[in-house]
Amino acid sequence: MRVTFVAAESVPFAKVGGLGDVVGALPEELARLGFEVTTILPWYPGIPVHTESESSFRFAGAEEHLRVGEIEQRGVRILFLGLPDFLRDGIYGYPDDVQRFVRFSLAAAALIETDVAHVHDWHSALLPALSHAGRLRARATVLTVHNIAHQGSWDPGELLHWTGLPGSFVHPDRMEYYGSVNLMKAGLTFADAITTVSATYGREIQTPEFGMGLDGIVRRQSKKLLGIPNGIDVTYWNPATDPHLEARYDRSNMGGKTLCQEALARDLGLAPPILGVVSRLVHQKGLDIVRDGLPALLDMGYSLAVLGAGDPGREHAWAEAARGNPGRVHYTRGRNEPLAHRIFAGSAGLLIPSRFEPCGLTQLIGLRYGTPPLAHAVGGLVDTIDDGRTGILFRPHTSEALLEGARRLRHSESRDVMIELGMDRDVSWKRSAAEYGRLYRQLLE
Ligand code: ADP
Repeated sequence: MRVTFVAAESVPFAKVGGLGDVVGALPEELARLGFEVTTILPWYPGIPVHTESESSFRFAGAEEHLRVGEIEQRGVRILFLGLPDFLRDGIYGYPDDVQRFVRFSLAAAALIETDVAHVHDWHSALLPALSHAGRLRARATVLTVHNIAHQGSWDPGELLHWTGLPGSFVHPDRMEYYGSVNLMKAGLTFADAITTVSATYGREIQTPEFGMGLDGIVRRQSKKLLGIPNGIDVTYWNPATDPHLEARYDRSNMGGKTLCQEALARDLGLAPPILGVVSRLVHQKGLDIVRDGLPALLDMGYSLAVLGAGDPGREHAWAEAARGNPGRVHYTRGRNEPLAHRIFAGSAGLLIPSRFEPCGLTQLIGLRYGTPPLAHAVGGLVDTIDDGRTGILFRPHTSEALLEGARRLRHSESRDVMIELGMDRDVSWKRSAAEYGRLYRQLLE
């Protein structure tokens, strides 16, 4: 069976968050299960390819040419679409993002010939609508919602002009949303199946609190909704082989973990035990309650290692917190893969106070690295952390609840058991990839 992934991000080529991890790892696991998988991505600057070819597609009524780069990687064919709009420093955050990804989606649609087109978040959610209009050579479409907070809204007239879709698509039952078109809504409406990256998130986005305005649409489509949790690439995230670590370790030989903890404390100039944070610094991630509870957290004996990039105001606040608490709070601004690994391995606990969390990957990495997560009881965090056994869940989203959770973690008598149970948990893609496979087969029946 041929499956084609279309997405904005994929490791190792382009990653902002968990979406990139998923699109990198899941196709490889599906390929191991015997699926013939192609992944289509924008050709971001500097990505080397094995072969190149030419293609064309229609945008705003005119023919556009594009170069298509191709590589083969661990059983997956990867196509990079050479569009000038994607030759920029970043992946998102530009005023013309909707236009860029509509162009990308139209270019992808012109190339695709597959059994299942599997699209991810709003960036490629136009494809199910194109399929409905008879303009996609795919027998079925699947939309995975990684984060419903981002939706891709735009002016209906312009979108119709770019895509050539008939005006009937701009209807409240289809892709119209309060006077705009909404690409996430288009995907939710027209995809043959919707998956969310955890079952709890699938239920949450049917409520006004988490649905970001689309909860009614999700409720209407709930019969075709299925929650499949993410895994992580356990070859890449493996404390027994991780080249970024001071020392390596596994479940039966934990000496290396102690060395990693000592190295992290030494490198960052922090007094152990350390609570780690590896996160985008945005409202979703809820770290403001950590800042509010900081004095009490430090009183408890914890130090804090924060690694993250995001809103300038939040970056500034963490830089200030570090300046005000030398030896107890360390902040590294930006993305830093090696340091992320050292924090996962060298911390005594991993703080994940997200306001909402579709699945979350860092808790899975924490479990694998013997670093119990301390997380807000929401979304995929609920589905993947066994409270009191493999980590600590707290609710509500307040600094008081967080501090109570930190106390439970600090004074847990069964800490070693918690670490062992966490490391024993299967956080690989195996089970979830098989579930996607079952879904594809059902759709084609
Ligand atoms: P999200 O996709 O919402 O950002 P996830 O928990 O699903 O959150 O995935 C986050 C991924 O990004 C993890 O692999 C994490 O290690 C990584 N990450 C986040 N911030 C950084 C950073 N500053 N440096 C390196 N890796 C980071």
